[in-house]
Amino acid sequence: MEKTTSFSIHEGKPIRCKAAISRKPGEALVIEEIHVDPPQAFEVRIKILCTSLCHTDVTFSKLDSGPLARFPRILGHEAVGVVESIGGHVDGFQRGDVVLPVFHPHCEECRDCKSSKSNWCARFADDFLSNTRRYGMTSRFKDSMGEDIYHFLFVSSFSEYTVVDIAHLVKISPEMPVDKAALLSCGVSTGVGAAWKVADVEEGSTIAVFGLGAVGLAVAEGARLRGAGKIIGVDLNPDKFELGKKFGITDFINPALCGEKKISEVIKEMTGVGVDYSFECVGLHSLLTEAFNSTRTGSGKTVVLGIEKDLTPISLGSFDLFRGRHVCGSMFGGLKPKLDIPILVEHYLKKELNLDSFITHELKFEEINKAFDLLVQGKSLRCVLWMDK
Ligand code: NAD
Ligand code: ZN
Repeated sequence: MEKTTSFSIHEGKPIRCKAAISRKPGEALVIEEIHVDPPQAFEVRIKILCTSLCHTDVTFSKLDSGPLARFPRILGHEAVGVVESIGGHVDGFQRGDVVLPVFHPHCEECRDCKSSKSNWCARFADDFLSNTRRYGMTSRFKDSMGEDIYHFLFVSSFSEYTVVDIAHLVKISPEMPVDKAALLSCGVSTGVGAAWKVADVEEGSTIAVFGLGAVGLAVAEGARLRGAGKIIGVDLNPDKFELGKKFGITDFINPALCGEKKISEVIKEMTGVGVDYSFECVGLHSLLTEAFNSTRTGSGKTVVLGIEKDLTPISLGSFDLFRGRHVCGSMFGGLKPKLDIPILVEHYLKKELNLDSFITHELKFEEINKAFDLLVQGKSLRCVLWMDK
């Protein structure tokens, strides 16, 4: 890591480095040499130390239609890096700082950023289409032929260097091990935040988590830390139950073994009245209905975390809603990145939050396609890809 001098030899100039490029939907990523432009005003160029893979990267690597399907693109949005150089009007960051790039913006100035009711940054959060936050489709990446490469979720961490807007950047304690820190840039924060902020799970409550990937297991971990009673995990992969016990899963349902019964019926039998909170962490329309039907009348709450590829409308019983059951979605688990990530870091450093068990695999960056296979095959929770090893 070039951390010793007060300025980078590349400052103000493009950097040549390696990136894994998603060139066509459904195809393996290709490691290529690219150019990364210097940061403009309100931007920071960072050297990625390590990145992990979230299911959202898999979804977008396969997306073959609609405005969000863009190729060639540099995916990746769960990472940690070190500041290499800064653009104008950047306060609070300097070269050498360890930072998390986060896909969800936090401008700290808009009405929503100032309110405790929402983490939906009114200034920036609606825009998923631009490459760069304040410069629209302007890209900071070019391939060796000089062609622009698309950014992804304002992070693009599958590159040795990337340019990130300060609304998407959080400085973290240098005491934090960087691989554990990377998990907080998407999946684990999303799950823990959903349990703490969106559902506000209380001691003794009952929970059902649909989908035991890193997001679902982070929901369980958040609920465990809040002292939840029963935490029911639902997954087609039986290996996830043993793994889930480390994050507080107390009971397991494999939908393939439910026979004629619906998952919601099994959950109602297990709990008597249904669970207090259910969380959809797969991104399947049918599971969302089951998650909703699993909650108790009067106060049950379903939190939608999984991203449905086709964004299909949902149909829920109006009488069930009328009788006091809630459904809500959340981006980044309702967390405000600059405010809440340092709190999660503290919980980890105090040995309360279990981050270690989420890292099931580690590989070199060049082996990124193996990391995709591991996630798709359900063998990994999070695979950390190291840039310099
Ligand atoms: P993952 O691939 O690690 O986990 C998904 C799990 O769902 C796997 O264990 C799989 O076996 C299970 N599953 C698949 N089909 C199932 C079915 N029919 N019934 C029961 N279980 C089933 O994924 P992840 O990285 O944990 O991400 C989970 C979801 O959350 C994805 O849709 C991702 O895009 C989304 N996500 C949302 C946010 C947000 O801010 N809302 C953030 C990160 C990820
Ligand atoms: Zn993610």
